[in-house]
Amino acid sequence: MRGGLIAVFVILAAFGGFGALLVLNSSPDGENRPLIPTEAVTIIPTRAWQDILLIGVQGGGTPVPTVALPGQSLFVVPTLPPDTAPTSALIPANNVVVLPPVSDPITGATATPALPAGSDATTAPLATRLAQTPRPVPTNPPSLPVPVARDPRDHYWFARPIDPDRTNRALNYYEYGTDGPNDAPYPIHHGIDMPNEIGTTVRAAGSGLVIFATSEQTPIFQSSPSYGNVVVIEHDFGYQGRKLWTLYAHLEAPLVVAGEQVEMGQAIALLGNTGQSGGPHVHFEVRLGENTYGTTVNPVLWLAPYVNHGTIAGRVVDSRGEFIDDADITLLVGGVPRDVTTSYVFRGSGSQVNPDPQWGENFVFSDVPAGVYDVVVTFDGRRVVRQVAVREGLTTFVELSPPEVVEPPTPTPES
Ligand SMILES: [Zn+2]
Repeated sequence: MRGGLIAVFVILAAFGGFGALLVLNSSPDGENRPLIPTEAVTIIPTRAWQDILLIGVQGGGTPVPTVALPGQSLFVVPTLPPDTAPTSALIPANNVVVLPPVSDPITGATATPALPAGSDATTAPLATRLAQTPRPVPTNPPSLPVPVARDPRDHYWFARPIDPDRTNRALNYYEYGTDGPNDAPYPIHHGIDMPNEIGTTVRAAGSGLVIFATSEQTPIFQSSPSYGNVVVIEHDFGYQGRKLWTLYAHLEAPLVVAGEQVEMGQAIALLGNTGQSGGPHVHFEVRLGENTYGTTVNPVLWLAPYVNHGTIAGRVVDSRGEFIDDADITLLVGGVPRDVTTSYVFRGSGSQVNPDPQWGENFVFSDVPAGVYDVVVTFDGRRVVRQVAVREGLTTFVELSPPEVVEPPTPTPES
């Protein structure tokens, strides 16, 4: 008991200290500086956070401190329905629709729509065209060092699986939980896609045990050939007592075998175009609590943001507070659209995606440069705008719902 209390204290103190170190070592401009805890700063050895996470898992508890930072407004965690996702609700093969490639305005990369059932991805003309098309060299900002925990509500604990001199941000037209732009009939996305050339190094997002790597003995992951060659890592740390997995799909070849312990950043595979993939990319999933298709969460809320970038997570809900599926959301900066997304599709999709256990969101804008933005949703022609500030390494939460409809007063009959 006493040992348990000491362990909890050590976790809280160490995490607070590490978070303070991250804060103090960053953001030279005062504009977007995150909150600085007033506690004394403790010097933590380099690997201490890994030990902290390990202790958190072994103790069955969460490694996230539950204390609020000083000066922070109180955030009430949305109550989520219990996670009763059916396991392995795989996409039926006959439910896949082929679409022409779409150019991504930010990365310049090309869409990787799923191929129709039965088509051979490796010989598809689209894949050939993609391989022959010269791509602009991506210029990604460096990521903040993981784990990023400037706000205890955040859990940016994973490193990007692709190096910064390649595309290591999620394609923004086919984000987690969405069916693509303009009501495109894509399958609901359970992960994010990072398109790159075949052979690009794919790295472990965090330390852990490889529990699956496609091999001759295990050619298909969880009865789903659509994933192609796959590596799955069960991580050394968990979230609120629940295990975490990361999944890397459509690989050219794994570089690890099941049963191997890997460190964050270790090369685990070569990126490919296997399975139901219309072009070379890695499909990246984060699974929480259970290693199934129905237990994914939005990976961009778990990957360390870029330096001087943050994340907007939000809810689009109706007047009763119920999620509105597939709503179009626009992000404006200085009145000019910077990005668009759609809210998650939960209903009638035949699959299951999940809001984050912390944020309860149904849309996210990731990799947003620090600054002030307007988030805009239109409800039946009525435009709702919320102004938000994005700060480095932090998640900004916003909720949008239809404006109150003021009923015109009933005319009283003249007496
Ligand atoms: Zn994908």
